[in-house]
Amino acid sequence: MPELPEVETVRRGLAPTMEQARLERLETRRPDLRFPLPDQFSERVSGRTIIGLGRRAKYLLIDLDDGMTIIAHLGMSGSFRIEEAGPAEIPGDFHHPRSKDEKHDHVLFHLTKGDRSLRVIYNDPRRFGFMHLWTRSDLDLYPAFAGLGPEPTGNLLDAEYLAARFRDRIQPLKGMLLDQTVIAGLGNIYVCEALWRSGLSPKRKAGTLVTKAGKPKPELMALTVAIREVIADAIAAGGSSLRDHIQTDGSLGYFQHSFSVYDRETEPCRREGCGGIVSRLVQSGRSTFFCETCQK
Ligand code: ZN
Repeated sequence: MPELPEVETVRRGLAPTMEQARLERLETRRPDLRFPLPDQFSERVSGRTIIGLGRRAKYLLIDLDDGMTIIAHLGMSGSFRIEEAGPAEIPGDFHHPRSKDEKHDHVLFHLTKGDRSLRVIYNDPRRFGFMHLWTRSDLDLYPAFAGLGPEPTGNLLDAEYLAARFRDRIQPLKGMLLDQTVIAGLGNIYVCEALWRSGLSPKRKAGTLVTKAGKPKPELMALTVAIREVIADAIAAGGSSLRDHIQTDGSLGYFQHSFSVYDRETEPCRREGCGGIVSRLVQSGRSTFFCETCQK
């Protein structure tokens, strides 16, 4: 399942093609993905210009020039790819290396940008992804966005904010950080990684990182930095994988991460001088990977 850094990587990969392009025609090849596609979807968006490509948590936001936004979620297996379909195309010499997958091409954005014609194709074998059309000025009313916390890389996330949320709370850190009303889009993998980086146990009670006066302790400042860094590092890794992908097949979406602690049960801790072993713990039905030796 794509996590936030992968969605951001997809956004950055699509933006140069989609932003300021005219959406000549939206082609839908089936009426639904995980949910039905919007009523009259093609009629309502064809002919519009895409004025921006944004992201909120794990949702892509395709902003149109009539004040509407296409909200797209990649689900478990969704991906986008870009194909050039312009005057440069030589009939009979246009390769479709992914033709075996074309039966999973569900939504096609036929675009023009300057004198180029392009297709941005949404492919999703398992069809857990979905798309909605929403009025941009009312995005806060979109059900998945109501009550959503700040972005992990945004300016609103700082140690003072987390101190206010953690104060007097006895919930374990792991659960607090997965709570989307506390931080938006921070998934299981990156919570494990951020806790390891900051040397904090996933079982630690959230309130213990806050002083009696409600101020963040140094440990909470370290955790805040770790959250920003794990996400920024993963986005940077995605960016380098993105360059490779574009060169090879134009597809955008998934890349290999190297994790410090996630999915490394029974393996040696990677913290220099620690000597501990990574263990796994199940909290609220999710696997937590951590090192008992250096995470306190
Ligand atoms: Zn360790």
